[in-house]
Amino acid sequence: MANQLTERASQVNELAAYGLSEAQIALQLGISRQRINQLKQRYGIKIKPAESQVEAEAKRLIPEIRRLMESGLSQPKVRDKLNISWGVLKKAIEIGNIKPLRHSEDLAGKTFGLWTVLKFHGCTPYGGEYEWLCRCGGCGEEKPVRRANLTRGLSTRCKKCAAKARGGTKVRRVDTGEEFVSIEAAARQVGISRATLYRRICDGKTIVGTRWEVF
Ligand SMILES: [Zn+2]
Repeated sequence: MANQLTERASQVNELAAYGLSEAQIALQLGISRQRINQLKQRYGIKIKPAESQVEAEAKRLIPEIRRLMESGLSQPKVRDKLNISWGVLKKAIEIGNIKPLRHSEDLAGKTFGLWTVLKFHGCTPYGGEYEWLCRCGGCGEEKPVRRANLTRGLSTRCKKCAAKARGGTKVRRVDTGEEFVSIEAAARQVGISRATLYRRICDGKTIVGTRWEVF
């Protein structure tokens, strides 16, 4: 299994080295784009997009992509629906200056752990996840952070501060000063879900009659 994968990856790599585009490689090897993406990620294969081809396809699809995104569809859904590559989608968004509706959610000014959200940053290059520019309360570093990582408490501070806070994100109840080794541990103690506890902490709301803080 692992050998087959490695062999596939080296075939993809070889064709990429000849300058073939993702679509051409998929056709040549008779595998899906999704498969190629998995191999790319797993083996770090770089495929140079056939620029003119990507641009041409992007330009042709701008009206359709605009219509779908302005109707509220997320980037992954638009991509699936039109069966196009991320490269084409990103190019169309860039050239067509298409603004998805979901940008309307405003996280600016909110805090998530030690992060304070400054402003909307953009989308990740591939995958179409929204990133927000945040400032780390531990050291002041500013970095774009994925929305999902912020809201789920998967990222609560910059990498340097996270390394200093060995053992990860801890939680403290403000009234008694009682400390918990993780968001999960605090949630278990209170008897609510981890997601609910973290959301309420971030929103500055009380839980069991007291405020909580992340440190
Ligand atoms: Zn920091």
